[in-house]
Amino acid sequence: MRAVGVSIARREVKLIDHPEPKLARPDEVKIRILEVGVCGTDREICEFKFGEPPAGSQHLVLGHEALGEVVEAGSGVQSLKPGTLVVPMVRLPCEVAACAPCRSDRQDFCGTDTFEEHGIRRSHGFMTEKVVERERFLVPVGPDLREVAVLVEPLTIMDKALRELDAIQARMPFAAGKRALVLGAGPVGLLGAMALLLRGYATTVVARSPGTTPNAKLAAAVGARYVSSRETPAGGWGEFDVIYEAAGSPAAAFESLAALAPNGVLILTGVPGAGDFLNFDAGRFVREVVLRNQLIVGTVNAGKASFAGAISSLGEMNRRWPAALRGLITGRHPLESFGKLLLERPEGIKSILVL
Ligand SMILES: [Zn+2]
Ligand SMILES: [Zn+2]
Repeated sequence: MRAVGVSIARREVKLIDHPEPKLARPDEVKIRILEVGVCGTDREICEFKFGEPPAGSQHLVLGHEALGEVVEAGSGVQSLKPGTLVVPMVRLPCEVAACAPCRSDRQDFCGTDTFEEHGIRRSHGFMTEKVVERERFLVPVGPDLREVAVLVEPLTIMDKALRELDAIQARMPFAAGKRALVLGAGPVGLLGAMALLLRGYATTVVARSPGTTPNAKLAAAVGARYVSSRETPAGGWGEFDVIYEAAGSPAAAFESLAALAPNGVLILTGVPGAGDFLNFDAGRFVREVVLRNQLIVGTVNAGKASFAGAISSLGEMNRRWPAALRGLITGRHPLESFGKLLLERPEGIKSILVL
C-alpha cells in the first residue's frame, strides 16, 4: 500500500510501500482511508521537531485527521459494519495500571507520557490506504457529513475545551458572560469560532493578517467580528469572558490577557516550541489574575465524548453555514501531492489528501 512515511533518523519524508494490515483480534476493524487533513503538527513532524515511529519501525506513517470507511469487521465488533463512515481517535491509552485517566478511557488526560498517538508518536497514522483499529477507538459519522467529516478531529480540540469551560464556569452561581475571543484564524481558530457562535457567544477572531484574507472573510461570513492585530493592538479589541488561544503564540496569549474580563478564562491550545522568552511585569500579571478571579487553562487532545460532540456540532454547522464550512477546505489533493502540502507553505485554509 502507498503511505507517507517520515524517517526521523534519516531525515526523510517520502512515499513508501507499507504492508496492508490484517485483523488480528475479534474487536478489530479494517477501514479504508478516504481523506486525511494536513495540519501544522504534520508539518512540524516533517521538520523533525518531534514525532516517533512505532518500536521496531524505521519510519512513522504520518496523518492523524482522518475519515475512513469500514471494509471489514472482526467477529466481536458490535456496532460497525462495512460501509459505515468512521473517524479514528488519535491518542491511545497508556499501559500503566496506575494511570487513572487511561484506565477511565480518558487518555487525553494521561499522566504518564507513555501513550501513543496515531501519526505522531509510536503509532502509525492514516496517510495510507487501509488501517486496522479496535472498535472502541473508532467513532461513527453519518453519510450526510461525508464531505466535511475530515474536520471532526480538529474540531474535537474545541469540543473538549468547551466542556472544560462549562466545568470551570460552574464555579459561579450565576451565568458567565458570553463574549469570546479566538486568537488565530487558521482551521482550528475558525472551527473554534463557529463552535462558540453555535453556543451563543458573541465572537471576535483576532489574527495578524488583514481583513481581506479568505480566513478573515470566512470569520465574518459566519457572524464573527474579525480584527487584525497588526492594525489594532490588544487594548482596542474589547473585553472578553473567554479567550481561546489557537495561534501557538505565547506572546499573543500573554498580550490577550489585557482583554480578559473579570472572572474570565484564558484557554491555551497552541503548542509552541521552547525558547520564546518574554519580558513582562510578573507582579502585575499575578495581581490581575488574583484580583479578577481569572483562570488560565491548558487543554490537549480529546476524549471519545468530544468526538461525538464534534460530530454533532459539525452537523449543526453544516445546516447553518454549509458554504462557509465547505469553504474551510480549500484544496483536495492526491496522496502523491504530499510534498507540496507538507514541505511547502500551501495556500488556502485547510488542505486535504484524498486516498
Ligand atoms: Zn492536526
Ligand atoms: Zn495514561
